[in-house]
Amino acid sequence: MGVKSISAWGRLSNDVHDVQMLHDRAHVASVVQTHAPGLAFGNGRSYGDVCLNPGGTLWHTVGLNKFISFDDASGRLVCESGVLLRDIQRVLAPRGWMLPVTPGTQRITVGGAIANDVHGKNHHAAGCFGDHVLSLTLARTNGEVLTLDWNKTPELMSATVGGLGLTGVVVTAELQLRRVESPWLLTETLPYQGLTEFFELADVSEPHWEHTVSWIDCLAGATARGIFMRANPLSANAAEAMPPWIQKRPLNVPFVPPVSLVNRLSLKPFNLAYYHLQKFKQGVNVAHYEPFFYPLDNVQHWNRMYGPRGFYQYQSVVPREGGQEAVQAMLAAIAASGEGSFLAVLKTFGHREARGMLSFPQPGVTLALDFPNGGERTHQLFERLDAIVREVKGRLYMAKDARMSRDLFEAGYPRLSEFVAHRDPGIRSGMSQRLMGF
Ligand SMILES: Cc1cc2nc3c(=O)[nH]c(=O)nc-3n(C[C@H](O)[C@H](O)[C@H](O)COP(=O)(O)OP(=O)(O)OC[C@H]3O[C@@H](n4cnc5c(N)ncnc54)[C@H](O)[C@@H]3O)c2cc1C
Repeated sequence: MGVKSISAWGRLSNDVHDVQMLHDRAHVASVVQTHAPGLAFGNGRSYGDVCLNPGGTLWHTVGLNKFISFDDASGRLVCESGVLLRDIQRVLAPRGWMLPVTPGTQRITVGGAIANDVHGKNHHAAGCFGDHVLSLTLARTNGEVLTLDWNKTPELMSATVGGLGLTGVVVTAELQLRRVESPWLLTETLPYQGLTEFFELADVSEPHWEHTVSWIDCLAGATARGIFMRANPLSANAAEAMPPWIQKRPLNVPFVPPVSLVNRLSLKPFNLAYYHLQKFKQGVNVAHYEPFFYPLDNVQHWNRMYGPRGFYQYQSVVPREGGQEAVQAMLAAIAASGEGSFLAVLKTFGHREARGMLSFPQPGVTLALDFPNGGERTHQLFERLDAIVREVKGRLYMAKDARMSRDLFEAGYPRLSEFVAHRDPGIRSGMSQRLMGF
């Protein structure tokens, strides 16, 4: 492909890269050996510099898009790392198999899902994406291709799952899918007032509902009103009554507006309208998995809405103990700053430690907020939020980050020194240079 300017999802920069396309899985090792130092690039759905290597090489995996084998009896899929999660689900859901864990967009690659060890709305029930990766092949820049799994190579596997692409290029992966009886979900939408009510709902829902998530209006101040959603897969019998799935035409943001459409004036009415719209839907419903799990995938290029300066996502996780106070303090800091976020997502994580050395999820509660890039003003708010996260021994999510400091990173990820030993010296990213020095 050659020299090209590439942005991450947050569109905070547009950096020149030497883009090398990967097509043939047999030749990945020789390409990465010849063009090191570089970094694998999936579908660019990470928000910041974890998927960028400004001024350097990106190995684009879009051409590594083949399914290699699928066993219909066991649900084991072997595919190349550039395959999109959406393609796996669309091909295999009609055959009764789905991915056990997917994030809030299915327009990401298998390699990207492994490198950020992504989580979904069912973390309490199913853990992270990496928990369902049985094995993978990894091309290193010294020309080696290694086969990794959790039993024979536990350390390098644990460094690679959640390893931000820094241990090598994942070429293929063997994934364990889960059986589903239908593509439909039984959902329930419940409005709540205040964080105490949110935590009560999370506690009573987790043992009985596979998927839980909530949206919180961070502009509502002390009341912290929100909408709690929970869902379970629908059985085949119940699903039989459903109409055939109608494919909607995707919506689009066709150009980058000169200023952010998300600003102080538009946020309050948007959040109010969204709250009342969702509240109107309260109660039990049946939903297809796509709009429930990936509500924004139907609006192409929605990230352009923030205008030419782009936007940040700030996603933290804080332990349950002290978590309510920490989230309350973050909401208060946001309200006081006047920097609003729309679509703030609040969700509890289950009581399981992730297997990756640098995986983000830990037992506790995670808050994710989008902010238009307002320059210094926005950074001052982030520093206040960082102090709250640090105080309660929380951490920030690298898939979303573009600005955390090195000491906050080191404090949040105690297995960092163990991880560094497994890095491939021919791989670097904007983030690795910012947070690890190379
Ligand atoms: C709307 C939206 C909702 C989201 N919701 C969630 C969510 O609910 N939960 C969650 O966890 N995340 C979520 N994310 C973040 C997203 O899931 C991750 O950033 C994901 O890693 C992006 O995958 P990608 O294929 O686009 O990879 P990229 O963003 O291109 O790259 C991500 C990382 O993967 C590495 N990588 C990519 N391919 C390979 C490979 N073959 N070998 C080695 N390394 C590789 C890159 O080097 C980089 O470090 C969301 C993002 C968006 C835009």
